[in-house]
Amino acid sequence: MDKTEKKYKLSIIVPVYNEENNIEPLISRLKNILDDLSCNYEIIFSMDPSTDLTEKMILEQRMEDERIKLLKLSRRFGQPAATIAGIHYCTGDACVVIDADLQDPPELIKEMIQKWQEGYDVVYAQRISRKGETLIKRIVSYVGYWVINKISVVKIPRNTGDFRLISREVINELKRFNEHDPFLRGIVAYVGFSQFAIPYDRDARLEGKGKYNRFLGSLRIGLNGVLGFSRYPLHLISLLGLLISSISFLLGLTYLSLKLLDYHIVWGNPTLVMLISFLSGVQLLSLGIIGQYMARIFDEIKGRPGYIIKESIGLSKEKE
Ligand code: UDP
Ligand code: MG
Repeated sequence: MDKTEKKYKLSIIVPVYNEENNIEPLISRLKNILDDLSCNYEIIFSMDPSTDLTEKMILEQRMEDERIKLLKLSRRFGQPAATIAGIHYCTGDACVVIDADLQDPPELIKEMIQKWQEGYDVVYAQRISRKGETLIKRIVSYVGYWVINKISVVKIPRNTGDFRLISREVINELKRFNEHDPFLRGIVAYVGFSQFAIPYDRDARLEGKGKYNRFLGSLRIGLNGVLGFSRYPLHLISLLGLLISSISFLLGLTYLSLKLLDYHIVWGNPTLVMLISFLSGVQLLSLGIIGQYMARIFDEIKGRPGYIIKESIGLSKEKE
Protein backbone atom coordinates (compact mmCIF):
# COMPACT_ATOMS: atom_id res chain seq x y z
CA MET A 1 0.00 0.00 0.00
CA ASP A 2 1.29 3.41 -0.91
CA LYS A 3 0.26 5.90 1.77
CA THR A 4 0.68 8.83 -0.58
CA GLU A 5 -1.89 7.47 -2.99
CA LYS A 6 -5.36 8.39 -1.93
CA LYS A 7 -6.42 4.77 -1.74
CA TYR A 8 -5.52 4.22 1.87
CA LYS A 9 -8.19 3.42 4.43
CA LEU A 10 -8.46 5.24 7.72
CA SER A 11 -10.27 3.88 10.79
CA ILE A 12 -11.61 6.37 13.30
CA ILE A 13 -12.07 4.79 16.73
CA VAL A 14 -14.39 6.43 19.24
CA PRO A 15 -14.78 4.93 22.73
CA VAL A 16 -18.21 5.99 23.82
CA TYR A 17 -20.42 5.89 26.89
CA ASN A 18 -23.59 7.93 27.34
CA GLU A 19 -22.91 10.58 24.71
CA GLU A 20 -26.31 10.79 22.97
CA ASN A 21 -26.04 14.47 22.08
CA ASN A 22 -22.46 14.32 20.83
CA ILE A 23 -22.80 11.57 18.24
CA GLU A 24 -24.34 13.61 15.45
CA PRO A 25 -22.09 16.70 15.82
CA LEU A 26 -19.01 14.46 16.02
CA ILE A 27 -19.91 12.54 12.88
CA SER A 28 -20.66 15.67 10.88
CA ARG A 29 -17.39 17.33 11.89
CA LEU A 30 -15.45 14.14 11.19
CA LYS A 31 -17.08 13.77 7.79
CA ASN A 32 -16.12 17.29 6.78
CA ILE A 33 -12.51 16.42 7.33
CA LEU A 34 -12.58 12.89 5.97
CA ASP A 35 -14.40 13.84 2.79
CA ASP A 36 -11.73 16.47 2.16
CA LEU A 37 -9.05 13.83 2.49
CA SER A 38 -10.92 11.70 -0.04
CA CYS A 39 -9.67 8.47 1.44
CA ASN A 40 -11.65 5.35 2.34
CA TYR A 41 -12.69 5.38 5.94
CA GLU A 42 -14.75 3.78 8.68
CA ILE A 43 -15.92 5.32 11.94
CA ILE A 44 -16.05 2.71 14.69
CA PHE A 45 -17.96 3.49 17.86
CA SER A 46 -16.72 1.18 20.58
CA MET A 47 -19.51 1.42 23.07
CA ASP A 48 -19.81 0.65 26.75
CA PRO A 49 -23.53 -0.20 27.04
CA SER A 50 -25.10 3.20 27.50
CA THR A 51 -28.17 4.08 29.49
CA ASP A 52 -29.20 6.92 27.18
CA LEU A 53 -29.93 7.06 23.45
CA THR A 54 -26.30 6.75 22.32
CA GLU A 55 -26.84 3.40 20.59
CA LYS A 56 -29.96 4.59 18.79
CA MET A 57 -28.18 7.71 17.57
CA ILE A 58 -25.29 5.66 16.21
CA LEU A 59 -27.58 3.18 14.45
CA GLU A 60 -29.61 6.01 12.92
CA GLN A 61 -26.39 7.46 11.51
CA ARG A 62 -25.46 4.03 10.20
CA MET A 63 -28.73 3.84 8.26
CA GLU A 64 -27.48 6.81 6.24
CA ASP A 65 -23.89 5.70 5.95
CA GLU A 66 -22.62 2.15 6.28
CA ARG A 67 -19.12 3.33 7.04
CA ILE A 68 -20.36 4.03 10.56
CA LYS A 69 -19.85 0.88 12.60
CA LEU A 70 -20.58 -0.22 16.13
CA LEU A 71 -18.87 -2.53 18.58
CA LYS A 72 -21.07 -3.20 21.58
CA LEU A 73 -19.29 -4.37 24.69
CA SER A 74 -21.21 -6.81 26.88
CA ARG A 75 -20.92 -4.55 29.93
CA ARG A 76 -19.13 -1.36 30.90
CA PHE A 77 -15.47 -2.33 30.59
CA GLY A 78 -14.32 1.30 30.59
CA GLN A 79 -12.65 3.64 28.15
CA PRO A 80 -9.23 1.90 27.89
CA ALA A 81 -10.78 -1.51 27.12
CA ALA A 82 -13.26 -0.01 24.65
CA THR A 83 -10.43 1.78 22.84
CA ILE A 84 -8.32 -1.37 22.63
CA ALA A 85 -11.32 -3.30 21.30
CA GLY A 86 -11.70 -0.71 18.53
CA ILE A 87 -8.01 -0.98 17.68
CA HIS A 88 -8.25 -4.78 17.55
CA TYR A 89 -11.25 -4.78 15.22
CA CYS A 90 -10.41 -1.89 12.88
CA THR A 91 -9.47 -2.62 9.29
CA GLY A 92 -7.69 0.57 8.19
CA ASP A 93 -4.10 1.16 7.09
CA ALA A 94 -3.98 3.50 10.07
CA CYS A 95 -6.38 4.42 12.85
CA VAL A 96 -7.13 7.57 14.78
CA VAL A 97 -8.45 7.33 18.35
CA ILE A 98 -10.67 10.25 19.29
CA ASP A 99 -13.07 11.08 22.16
CA ALA A 100 -16.77 11.44 21.44
CA ASP A 101 -17.20 14.78 23.19
CA LEU A 102 -15.30 16.85 20.60
CA GLN A 103 -12.62 17.82 23.10
CA ASP A 104 -10.18 16.59 20.51
CA PRO A 105 -10.59 18.73 17.36
CA PRO A 106 -11.07 16.40 14.35
CA GLU A 107 -9.38 19.05 12.16
CA LEU A 108 -6.05 17.84 13.54
CA ILE A 109 -6.51 14.55 11.68
CA LYS A 110 -5.36 16.21 8.45
CA GLU A 111 -2.01 17.09 9.97
CA MET A 112 -1.73 13.62 11.47
CA ILE A 113 -2.24 12.03 8.06
CA GLN A 114 0.39 14.33 6.58
CA LYS A 115 2.94 13.25 9.17
CA TRP A 116 1.99 9.60 8.67
CA GLN A 117 2.56 10.01 4.96
CA GLU A 118 5.95 11.51 5.73
CA GLY A 119 6.78 8.24 7.43
CA TYR A 120 5.86 8.55 11.11
CA ASP A 121 4.10 5.58 12.69
CA VAL A 122 2.51 7.31 15.64
CA VAL A 123 1.33 10.91 15.55
CA TYR A 124 -0.08 12.04 18.86
CA ALA A 125 -1.73 15.29 19.81
CA GLN A 126 -0.20 17.11 22.76
CA ARG A 127 -2.32 19.52 24.79
CA ILE A 128 -0.92 23.00 25.31
CA SER A 129 -4.04 24.12 27.11
CA ARG A 130 -7.02 22.35 28.63
CA LYS A 131 -10.36 24.05 28.77
CA GLY A 132 -13.10 23.00 31.15
CA GLU A 133 -10.83 21.25 33.61
CA THR A 134 -10.58 22.05 37.31
CA LEU A 135 -7.27 23.32 38.70
CA ILE A 136 -7.02 20.26 40.94
CA LYS A 137 -7.43 17.93 37.96
CA ARG A 138 -4.64 19.79 36.17
CA ILE A 139 -2.38 19.47 39.21
CA VAL A 140 -3.15 15.74 39.56
CA SER A 141 -2.37 15.26 35.89
CA TYR A 142 0.86 17.29 36.14
CA VAL A 143 2.10 15.34 39.14
CA GLY A 144 0.98 12.06 37.55
CA TYR A 145 3.03 12.64 34.42
CA TRP A 146 5.98 13.84 36.47
CA VAL A 147 5.99 10.64 38.54
CA ILE A 148 5.43 8.38 35.53
CA ASN A 149 8.27 9.96 33.59
CA LYS A 150 10.64 9.90 36.56
CA ILE A 151 10.25 6.19 37.14
CA SER A 152 8.84 4.48 34.09
CA VAL A 153 10.92 2.34 31.72
CA VAL A 154 9.61 4.18 28.66
CA LYS A 155 9.10 7.90 28.29
CA ILE A 156 5.39 8.66 28.12
CA PRO A 157 4.83 12.05 26.50
CA ARG A 158 3.26 14.62 28.84
CA ASN A 159 -0.19 16.04 28.33
CA THR A 160 -1.25 13.58 25.73
CA GLY A 161 -4.49 11.66 25.72
CA ASP A 162 -5.43 8.79 23.51
CA PHE A 163 -6.04 11.20 20.59
CA ARG A 164 -3.49 9.93 18.11
CA LEU A 165 -2.90 8.30 14.75
CA ILE A 166 -1.45 4.81 14.82
CA SER A 167 -0.10 3.02 11.74
CA ARG A 168 -1.04 -0.54 10.79
CA GLU A 169 2.48 -1.71 11.74
CA VAL A 170 1.98 -0.42 15.29
CA ILE A 171 -1.62 -1.71 15.44
CA ASN A 172 -0.30 -5.18 14.66
CA GLU A 173 2.24 -4.89 17.47
CA LEU A 174 -0.43 -3.62 19.87
CA LYS A 175 -2.43 -6.78 19.20
CA ARG A 176 0.33 -8.80 20.81
CA PHE A 177 -0.25 -7.04 24.12
CA ASN A 178 -2.75 -8.79 26.26
CA GLU A 179 -2.80 -6.60 29.31
CA HIS A 180 -5.71 -6.61 31.66
CA ASP A 181 -5.47 -2.89 32.40
CA PRO A 182 -4.19 -1.46 29.16
CA PHE A 183 -2.64 2.01 29.36
CA LEU A 184 -2.65 2.96 25.70
CA ARG A 185 -0.22 5.88 26.03
CA GLY A 186 2.23 3.56 27.77
CA ILE A 187 2.01 0.59 25.42
CA VAL A 188 2.24 2.82 22.36
CA ALA A 189 5.39 4.39 23.84
CA TYR A 190 6.67 0.90 24.62
CA VAL A 191 6.15 -0.28 21.04
CA GLY A 192 8.43 2.50 19.78
CA PHE A 193 8.73 3.17 16.02
CA SER A 194 8.90 6.79 14.91
CA GLN A 195 6.59 9.10 16.80
CA PHE A 196 5.64 12.73 16.26
CA ALA A 197 3.82 15.26 18.48
CA ILE A 198 1.36 17.90 17.27
CA PRO A 199 0.55 20.60 19.85
CA TYR A 200 -3.06 21.73 20.21
CA ASP A 201 -5.49 23.55 22.48
CA ARG A 202 -7.97 21.20 24.07
CA ASP A 203 -11.56 22.40 23.96
CA ALA A 204 -14.15 21.92 26.66
CA ARG A 205 -16.53 18.98 26.22
CA LEU A 206 -19.35 19.79 23.79
CA GLU A 207 -22.26 18.41 25.80
CA GLY A 208 -22.92 16.34 28.91
CA LYS A 209 -20.74 15.55 31.87
CA GLY A 210 -17.24 14.05 31.99
CA LYS A 211 -17.28 10.38 32.90
CA TYR A 212 -14.50 10.72 35.42
CA ASN A 213 -14.13 12.51 38.75
CA ARG A 214 -13.98 16.26 38.22
CA PHE A 215 -10.98 16.62 40.51
CA LEU A 216 -9.08 13.39 40.43
CA GLY A 217 -9.75 12.64 36.76
CA SER A 218 -8.83 9.22 35.55
CA LEU A 219 -6.51 8.55 38.48
CA ARG A 220 -6.96 4.79 38.19
CA ILE A 221 -5.82 4.92 34.57
CA GLY A 222 -2.83 7.05 35.62
CA LEU A 223 -1.98 4.51 38.30
CA ASN A 224 -1.79 1.89 35.57
CA GLY A 225 0.80 4.12 33.95
CA VAL A 226 2.90 4.09 37.12
CA LEU A 227 2.48 0.46 38.18
CA GLY A 228 2.31 -1.02 34.69
CA PHE A 229 5.52 0.58 33.50
CA SER A 230 7.77 0.73 36.52
CA ARG A 231 9.18 -1.47 39.26
CA TYR A 232 10.43 1.58 41.08
CA PRO A 233 7.78 1.53 43.86
CA LEU A 234 9.06 -1.96 44.76
CA HIS A 235 12.67 -0.73 44.86
CA LEU A 236 11.48 2.13 47.00
CA ILE A 237 10.31 -0.34 49.64
CA SER A 238 13.76 -1.95 49.78
CA LEU A 239 15.36 1.48 50.06
CA LEU A 240 12.97 2.46 52.84
CA GLY A 241 13.76 -0.79 54.64
CA LEU A 242 17.48 -0.11 54.34
CA LEU A 243 17.09 3.44 55.56
CA ILE A 244 14.95 2.59 58.56
CA SER A 245 17.15 -0.35 59.54
CA SER A 246 20.20 1.94 59.42
CA ILE A 247 18.48 4.49 61.60
CA SER A 248 17.51 1.84 64.13
CA PHE A 249 21.10 0.47 64.13
CA LEU A 250 22.44 3.97 64.83
CA LEU A 251 19.83 4.39 67.54
CA GLY A 252 20.99 1.11 69.09
CA LEU A 253 24.61 2.28 69.03
CA THR A 254 23.59 5.56 70.66
CA TYR A 255 21.77 3.77 73.46
CA LEU A 256 24.72 1.45 74.00
CA SER A 257 27.20 4.35 74.16
CA LEU A 258 24.99 6.21 76.59
CA LYS A 259 24.72 3.07 78.75
CA LEU A 260 28.52 2.58 78.71
CA LEU A 261 29.02 6.22 79.63
CA ASP A 262 26.67 5.59 82.52
CA TYR A 263 24.31 8.24 81.29
CA HIS A 264 20.69 7.53 82.11
CA ILE A 265 17.95 8.78 79.89
CA VAL A 266 14.28 7.98 80.27
CA TRP A 267 12.23 8.58 77.19
CA GLY A 268 8.59 8.27 77.72
CA ASN A 269 5.49 7.17 76.00
CA PRO A 270 5.37 9.73 73.16
CA THR A 271 8.60 8.44 71.63
CA LEU A 272 7.35 4.87 71.69
CA VAL A 273 3.96 5.75 70.30
CA MET A 274 5.56 7.78 67.52
CA LEU A 275 7.99 5.05 66.59
CA ILE A 276 5.37 2.33 66.57
CA SER A 277 2.90 4.30 64.53
CA PHE A 278 5.58 5.47 62.10
CA LEU A 279 6.85 1.95 61.54
CA SER A 280 3.38 0.46 61.21
CA GLY A 281 2.60 3.16 58.66
CA VAL A 282 5.69 2.36 56.62
CA GLN A 283 4.96 -1.36 56.81
CA LEU A 284 1.37 -1.00 55.71
CA LEU A 285 2.37 1.35 52.91
CA SER A 286 4.94 -1.15 51.70
CA LEU A 287 2.45 -4.00 51.91
CA GLY A 288 0.01 -1.83 49.99
CA ILE A 289 2.50 -1.28 47.18
CA ILE A 290 3.27 -4.99 47.00
CA GLY A 291 -0.48 -5.58 47.10
CA GLN A 292 -1.01 -3.33 44.09
CA TYR A 293 1.44 -5.36 42.04
CA MET A 294 -0.05 -8.60 43.36
CA ALA A 295 -3.52 -7.49 42.37
CA ARG A 296 -2.23 -6.96 38.86
CA ILE A 297 -0.57 -10.38 38.81
CA PHE A 298 -3.87 -11.80 40.10
CA ASP A 299 -5.78 -10.14 37.28
CA GLU A 300 -3.29 -11.21 34.61
CA ILE A 301 -2.85 -14.78 35.76
CA LYS A 302 -6.52 -15.58 35.45
CA GLY A 303 -6.17 -14.78 31.78
CA ARG A 304 -9.66 -13.31 31.55
CA PRO A 305 -10.37 -11.29 28.44
CA GLY A 306 -10.04 -7.54 28.93
CA TYR A 307 -13.32 -6.94 27.12
CA ILE A 308 -16.18 -8.96 25.65
CA ILE A 309 -17.97 -7.94 22.46
CA LYS A 310 -21.70 -8.58 22.58
CA GLU A 311 -22.38 -7.50 19.03
CA SER A 312 -20.34 -6.12 16.17
CA ILE A 313 -22.26 -4.21 13.56
CA GLY A 314 -20.48 -3.66 10.26
CA LEU A 315 -17.30 -5.36 11.50
CA SER A 316 -16.15 -8.95 11.42
CA LYS A 317 -16.88 -11.07 14.49
CA GLU A 318 -13.21 -11.82 14.92
CA LYS A 319 -10.26 -9.53 15.51
CA GLU A 320 -8.81 -8.38 12.20
N1 UDP B 1 -15.80 6.69 27.92
C1 UDP B 1 -16.06 5.33 27.73
N2 UDP B 1 -16.28 4.53 28.84
C2 UDP B 1 -16.22 5.04 30.11
C3 UDP B 1 -15.92 6.42 30.29
C4 UDP B 1 -15.71 7.21 29.17
O1 UDP B 1 -16.12 4.84 26.59
O2 UDP B 1 -16.40 4.26 31.05
C5 UDP B 1 -15.60 7.55 26.74
C6 UDP B 1 -16.43 8.82 26.70
O3 UDP B 1 -17.70 8.61 26.12
C7 UDP B 1 -15.57 9.75 25.86
C8 UDP B 1 -14.15 9.33 26.23
O4 UDP B 1 -14.26 8.02 26.77
O5 UDP B 1 -15.76 9.55 24.48
C9 UDP B 1 -13.52 10.29 27.23
O6 UDP B 1 -14.35 10.46 28.34
P1 UDP B 1 -14.47 11.85 29.12
O7 UDP B 1 -14.74 12.94 28.14
O8 UDP B 1 -15.46 11.66 30.20
O9 UDP B 1 -13.05 11.96 29.78
P2 UDP B 1 -11.95 13.15 29.74
O10 UDP B 1 -12.32 14.13 28.69
O11 UDP B 1 -11.97 13.69 31.10
O12 UDP B 1 -10.68 12.41 29.43
MG1 MG C 1 -13.87 14.56 27.53
